[in-house]
Amino acid sequence: MVEPFRAAALARLAEFAPRMGRHYAAGRNSDPGPGARRDVSELSAHVRHRLITEEEMVRAALSHHSPQAAEKFIQEVYWRSYWKGFLELRPQMWREYRARADATPITPAAQAAMEGRTGIACFDAWARELAETGYLHNHVRMWVASIWIFTLRLDWVLGAEWFLRHLHDADAASNTLSWRWVAGIQTPGKHYLARAENIARHTLGRFDPGGELNEAAEPLDEPGPPPAGLLPPADTPRERVALLLHEDDVTFWPEGCDVVAVGMLPAMRPFAEAALADGARLAAARTARAPEALAPTDAARWAAGLDAQLVMPWAPVGWCADATASILALRARRAWDEECWPLARRGFFPFKENIPKLLRSLHPPAAPGR
Ligand SMILES: Cc1cc2nc3c(=O)[nH]c(=O)nc-3n(C[C@H](O)[C@H](O)[C@H](O)COP(=O)(O)OP(=O)(O)OC[C@H]3O[C@@H](n4cnc5c(N)ncnc54)[C@H](O)[C@@H]3O)c2cc1C
Repeated sequence: MVEPFRAAALARLAEFAPRMGRHYAAGRNSDPGPGARRDVSELSAHVRHRLITEEEMVRAALSHHSPQAAEKFIQEVYWRSYWKGFLELRPQMWREYRARADATPITPAAQAAMEGRTGIACFDAWARELAETGYLHNHVRMWVASIWIFTLRLDWVLGAEWFLRHLHDADAASNTLSWRWVAGIQTPGKHYLARAENIARHTLGRFDPGGELNEAAEPLDEPGPPPAGLLPPADTPRERVALLLHEDDVTFWPEGCDVVAVGMLPAMRPFAEAALADGARLAAARTARAPEALAPTDAARWAAGLDAQLVMPWAPVGWCADATASILALRARRAWDEECWPLARRGFFPFKENIPKLLRSLHPPAAPGR
C-alpha cells in the first residue's frame, strides 16, 4: 500500500513507469492478489486526490515508452478523466444517485455480503480485502459488482455506497458510473457478467466459483444517462490569493498569483485527510505561513482578514462539491480538466479518439520514448 504522501506517490510512479508499456497491457487484467501485483500501478488513491496528477502519470508513461507501447495505460488514465467529465456534464445523475442512496436502507442480505458472508469464496475474500486494504483490482471490482447485482440480486446503489465507504480512491464519478456500467444502465442493454472461467483464469487459479454464479442474467431495466449539458465556467484568479485546498485536488496551485496563505477544509476519510495535510504542507512551504485547518463557514472571513481573494481548486461533481457549494470563492480548473471534460459528451470510444490530440497539447511536448 502506497502511503498518502506526494513523495511516496512519486516514488511509486518512478518504480512503476518501466512497466507501463507491454507489462501493463499484458498483465493488467489478472490479479495475483495483495502483495503479488506487479502489472497495475495501485496509484488510484493518489491521483484521485491529486497527490500526483493524471498528467504526471501520462508523462511518466511517455518518458519510458512510445505512445503506442503505453497506449493501454494512457487510455486507462483517460478513462478516469472521461468519467469525471461525464458526470460534470450531467450533475443531475449524482443528485439522483445521492437521493436514492440516502433513501435505501441496508438489507440483512446486503449486510451479510458486505461482511463477506455469502458462501461464495471469491466474493467473501474480496469483501474482506476491500475492508482491510481500501483497494481492489479493477477486474475484481467488476466481478464483485457483477456478483452483487446479478447473482446476489442486491441493489446496485447499496453496493456502490459500500465501495465508497471503503475505497481509498472513492470517487463519485468513477464509482457511480462504473457500477451503472456493470449493471447495464450506463450503456443501456450492455451489462458485465462475471463468469467463473474468467475469474479462475485471471486470479491465476486462486478462485474457481464454477456453478455458483448467475451467468445468464439480463441487464437491469433502469433509465440510461441524460444528455450532456455544458461545463460551468471556471474562474481565473490573478491577485493576492488565500488558497483553500480540499480533498479533490490537494496539490493545486494557481499559477501567476501571489499566494499569501494556505487553508484546508475537512476531508471525509482518513486517507483523504492525510493526503490533504501533505498537499497543504507542501503548498504552505511556498508561503510564509503554516497551513490552517478551516471550516467551510470560516473560509471567507479568513481570506478577508488576509486582504486576499479566496481561491479553491474546482471540486468536480461529488460530495466535496456538495460540502463546499456555499463557500464564496473563486474556483479554478486545471488545464487538463478544461480540455478533457467537455469531450465526455457521449461514449468512451468517441472520447478516446481525442487522446492523440490531447497528448500533443501536453507542454512541453512529451519526449519520444522507447
Ligand atoms: C465497480 C467499479 C467501481 C470503481 N470505483 C472506483 C472509484 O471509486 N475510484 C476510482 O478511482 N476508480 C474506480 N474504479 C475504476 C478502477 O477500478 C480503478 O481506478 C483502478 O482499479 C485503480 O487501480 P490502479 O491504480 O492499480 O489502476 P491502474 O490499472 O494502474 O490504472 C492507472 C490509473 O488509471 C485510472 N483507471 C484505471 N482503470 C480505470 C477505470 N476502469 N475507470 C477509471 N479510471 C481508471 C486510475 O486512476 C488508475 O490509477 C471502479 C471500477 C469499477 C468496475
